[in-house]
Amino acid sequence: MIPRLYVEQPLVAGAIVAADDRALHYLRNVMRRAPGDALVLFNGRDGEFEAEIASLDKRKAELKVTRLRRAQDTVPDLVLCFAPLKKDAIDFLIEKATELGVAAFQPVITRRTVASRINLERLRANAIEAAEQTERLTVPEVRAPISFDALVSSWEPSRHMILCAESGPALPIADAFRALTPNVSHTNAWAIFCGPEGGFHVSELDRLRTLPFVTPVGLGPRILRADTAALTALAVFQAILGDGTLRPPHPMMPIGTGAEGAE
Ligand code: SAH
Repeated sequence: MIPRLYVEQPLVAGAIVAADDRALHYLRNVMRRAPGDALVLFNGRDGEFEAEIASLDKRKAELKVTRLRRAQDTVPDLVLCFAPLKKDAIDFLIEKATELGVAAFQPVITRRTVASRINLERLRANAIEAAEQTERLTVPEVRAPISFDALVSSWEPSRHMILCAESGPALPIADAFRALTPNVSHTNAWAIFCGPEGGFHVSELDRLRTLPFVTPVGLGPRILRADTAALTALAVFQAILGDGTLRPPHPMMPIGTGAEGAE
């Protein structure tokens, strides 16, 4: 397997990029790579590049960028607003939602949010790792938590919010997305908002329902856990409004030939 790494530095053919500690550990101790070995680099801005290890020892590694492999692309402008969850559930959510192509995570402190401490650094590392594994060319942004009130009062009205509403009137999610489809060119910034383990407070649902940019949706007759609910909504979004029509890059595309479809 060819290691695929996110780096922060600018990427351009011919550049030499110093690996950070995480990349050094991964290449040396986890993947047991040596100078001359191939790898793939991306930084979320310049596209994906082929590279090779120019030098590697205990303390540092230098990576030589050789050539552009895939031009930069973007993911749909979809923000996942969610109440922080317990450690395992939030780690799971960040990893899986990154795989499903969210552009950004916005933690929101709601009335019934239980997990109050949130380790942004860990969440960002999880997002990077998931993006590396999933052939994404971008890493989703993980924003600092904000209160429910701040979220609502600072909301940009052109961003449409899909509210996962466990109670009260709601359209089935697929119907809601299909109904919104004719207007996507006008509302092409999206968010999905999912409540905490304890659910939204009824006053929160009532307030959100009054806002013109909110569409409350239902995810079926079962009460889903917050992580399951968020991932379900994301998957349905991508299938109907998002990038579900695109295909992954060929996984075995050999480095150096660019041969599409080769073994
Ligand atoms: N404890 C709450 C459920 C919380 S589920 C209760 O018993 O009512 C956590 C979050 O997942 C909810 O706030 C909602 O945003 C979402 N969710 C779960 N099941 C859902 C469903 N069937 N339809 C829509 N949203 C749902």
